[in-house]
Amino acid sequence: MSRTVLILLGAPGAGKGTQAVRLAQTLGLPHISTGDLFRANLAGGTDLGDRARSFMDQGELVPDELVLEMLFDRVSQEDCLAGYLLDGFPRTTAQAVALEARLENLVPTVIDIQVPDSDIEERIVGRRMCKDCGAIYHLTFSAPAQEGTCNACSGPLYQRKDDTAAVVRTRLEEYHQKTAPLISFYSERGGVSAVDGRLKPDLVFEACIASIQGSNQGSGHGVNN
Ligand SMILES: [Zn+2]
Repeated sequence: MSRTVLILLGAPGAGKGTQAVRLAQTLGLPHISTGDLFRANLAGGTDLGDRARSFMDQGELVPDELVLEMLFDRVSQEDCLAGYLLDGFPRTTAQAVALEARLENLVPTVIDIQVPDSDIEERIVGRRMCKDCGAIYHLTFSAPAQEGTCNACSGPLYQRKDDTAAVVRTRLEEYHQKTAPLISFYSERGGVSAVDGRLKPDLVFEACIASIQGSNQGSGHGVNN
């Protein structure tokens, strides 16, 4: 059986998280997100967690090296033998290079869930949440029956403070700056499958599955190569 290492790329708000969960379930691969890795190491009081905490306590970024150590520690566990899905990693070309060294001959399958910035902005800026029950609405796509009021519990709706056009634009700019070199990196290797993230989630999911199957049939994959 060939080993699948799946890397999902996608801007914040592109729906990457939702697809990651579903793909991992369907493919039977552990879903590894850097956020979860941190939480697990910090909560577990591991040596890696303690080291990460010492940086965080000083208000410093946890260095790449330590993030990599956490990741490689996680993917050396038995449930990752047949492969795994990486969500939010690699973030930088340096991380991609380290991962490549680790994977030796295995070329990861890279999927880029693409949504134009203007669509992401519309998705996020129109979002409203219920203060009482946490239900999520959208002014255009799933408006509440009565403006400003939750359908479920009649609680007041509010906009999260980060859900503004200015914040979204800054976040997207950062994302593109970091991700563009990664896309070139992987384009020069196994390639990057672009999936249209504007489609309905079911169709995005199907497109992801199709590109995974397509790339598994290609050459250069699997343990025997
Ligand atoms: Zn509510």
